[in-house]
Amino acid sequence: MTALTWHGEQDVRVEEVPKPEIVNPTDAIVEITATAICGSDLHLYNGYMPSMREGDVLGHEPMGEVVEVGEEVDRLEVGDRVVVPFTISCGGCWFCEEDLYSLCDNSNPNAELASKIMGQSPAGLFGFSHMLGGYAGGQAEYLRVPYADVGPVKIDSDLSDEQVLFLSDIFPTGYMAAENAEIEENDTVAVWGCGPVGQFAIQSARMLGADRIIAIDRIPERLEMAREHADAETIDFEEEDVYDRLMEMTGSRGPDRCIDAVGTEAHGTGVVGATDEVKQDVMLQDDRPVVLRQAIRCCRKGGTLSIPGVYLGRSDNVPTGPLMNKALTVKTGQTHVQRYLDPLLEKIEDGEIDPSFVITHEASLEDGPELYETFNEKEDGCIKAVLTP
Ligand code: NAD
Ligand code: ZN
Repeated sequence: MTALTWHGEQDVRVEEVPKPEIVNPTDAIVEITATAICGSDLHLYNGYMPSMREGDVLGHEPMGEVVEVGEEVDRLEVGDRVVVPFTISCGGCWFCEEDLYSLCDNSNPNAELASKIMGQSPAGLFGFSHMLGGYAGGQAEYLRVPYADVGPVKIDSDLSDEQVLFLSDIFPTGYMAAENAEIEENDTVAVWGCGPVGQFAIQSARMLGADRIIAIDRIPERLEMAREHADAETIDFEEEDVYDRLMEMTGSRGPDRCIDAVGTEAHGTGVVGATDEVKQDVMLQDDRPVVLRQAIRCCRKGGTLSIPGVYLGRSDNVPTGPLMNKALTVKTGQTHVQRYLDPLLEKIEDGEIDPSFVITHEASLEDGPELYETFNEKEDGCIKAVLTP
C-alpha cells in the first residue's frame, strides 16, 4: 500500500509499504478515506522528536472504513465508518477508567524507554516515534487500530469526512485546552498560536462562555480566521509588543486565562529552522521557550495557564518564581481524545460548529510531501491540510 514515510529532517516520502494485518484480537484494520497533517507532525518533520526511524509511517489524524476486525472486537463491524483518535488507549487500566486516556498504562510497548525520560510512560500514539509506541501512522491507505473497541467513534450520519475528521485530534485538543483554562463567564482569554489547534481552542473558549478572546500570531490569514470565525481581537506579535498590548487591552490586569497553542517551535526562540546545535540546546535549555514565559508574565494574578502546545525534551525552563508568586494554575497534557468524541460529535451534528472551516488545502496522499513543506512554511495561506489516499 502507499504511505507517507519519515526519512529524516524535512524528508517525507511516498512509499510502498506492507499493508497492516491484525496482530492482536482487539485490533481492527481501517481503510483510510481522509487523513490530516498536524502541527505535531511538524516536530517530526523538523527533526525535533527523538526515536524516529527511517521509513516510519506518519500520521495521527485519520478516518475511514473498517475492513477487518479481530476476534475480540465487539463495538465495530466491517463497513463501519469511523474517526480514529490519535491516542491509543486500552480502556481497562486505572488511567483509562479515570478518563485519562492519553496516560494509558498499557498501550505503549516501549514504555521502558519513555519511563527512562519521564518517570512513567504516557499512552502510545499513532505515527509519533518509537518512544511513544512505534505505531505506524494513518497517512496511508490502511491503518491497524489497536484496542479498536476503545478508540474509534462511529459516524452514522451523512456528515462529510471534512466535518468529522478533526475529532481525531485538533477539535478535542482545542476543547480540552479551553476546558483546562477553567474559563468562567466574563473572562478574557488570550490564545498564543492561531494554527489549527489555536483555532479550535478559540472556538471552544467561545462555547465555554469566554467574554473576550485575544488571539496572538504573526500570520495574517490565521489572525483573520480568528477574527472572522470567533470574533476574536488579535495581536500580531511581530508588529506589537505582546505584553504591552495585553496590558493595555485588559486595563493592566492581564488576561484571566492564557492558552499556549504553539509549543516547542515558537518564533522568537531561534528554534524554527534551527541548526543541530540550536536543537540540541533546546533539549538542554537556557531561557526558552518564549511563549510560556510570555504567557506567565502576561496572565493575571491567580489566573490559569493551559498548555496544549507540545514541548519536547527539556525545553521547559519555566520561570517558577513568577508562576508561584502570581499563584497561577497550570494545566497541560496530550488530549484525552476518547473523552470528547461523543459530546463533540453531538455539537457537530447539532450544527453548533462545522470544523471544516480550518481546511485550506486538500490533496492526494501522493502530494503529501509537497503539502508538508507548504504547511511547515505556512505558505500559500495554508492553515490545515487534508490528504485523501
Ligand atoms: P501550527 O504549527 O500550525 O501552529 C502554530 C502557530 O503558532 C503558527 O500559526 C505560528 O505562527 C504560531 N506561533 C509561532 N510562534 C509564536 C509566538 N511566539 N507567539 C504566538 N504565536 C506563535 O500547529 P498546530 O497544528 O496549531 O499545533 C499547535 C501545537 O499544538 C503544536 O505544538 C502541536 O504539537 C500541539 N498539539 C498538541 C496536542 C495535544 O494533545 N496536546 C494535539 C495536537 C497538537
Ligand atoms: Zn495532531
